[in-house]
Amino acid sequence: MRRLDEILAYNRHFLEQKAYEQFQTTKFPDKGLVVLSCMDTRLVELLPKAMNLRNGDFKLIKNAGAIVSHPFGSIMRSILVAIYELKAEEVCVVGHHDCGMSAIDPDRLVAKMKERGVSAQTIRVLEHAGVDLRRWLRGFAQVEEAVKNSVAMIRNHPLLPRDVAVHGLIIDPHTGKLELVENGYDHR
Ligand code: ZN
Repeated sequence: MRRLDEILAYNRHFLEQKAYEQFQTTKFPDKGLVVLSCMDTRLVELLPKAMNLRNGDFKLIKNAGAIVSHPFGSIMRSILVAIYELKAEEVCVVGHHDCGMSAIDPDRLVAKMKERGVSAQTIRVLEHAGVDLRRWLRGFAQVEEAVKNSVAMIRNHPLLPRDVAVHGLIIDPHTGKLELVENGYDHR
């Protein structure tokens, strides 16, 4: 069976068993928390378990690297919606060791795009249109610095309420150990 068919077949079973009942909650985070983390597969279950967070406890936003790269991009918008519309009160940026975004080489990525059929012409057109692909695709050298940058971007955002604490942490993707990089309570 192909992946999507497997998912849909399983889903019918899930509903029949009423397996959803144990997950029922509201859209408001019981622990008043927004977590921005990385899409790394090792963190899917490990991160909530290591932070004692369950369904209903928090809003979880993920991307590659837990990076806020633009003050008016979708990550920042999600954080603001969580705070103003969904009663979140604190933000945790949780980066991790051994992150794929720390090893990203934009030139190599562009080369892979070309191998997969994106034409050099397309790349040139984008660049002429002002898209700085290499800047857009680049990751970070040090996770600690990346977390601090994201925390600063959120904390200094002109639309963020001043009383919202923004914390920065690094998680070990093997053990779940958390390292505190920025304590948001010190900055309010
Ligand atoms: Zn990562």
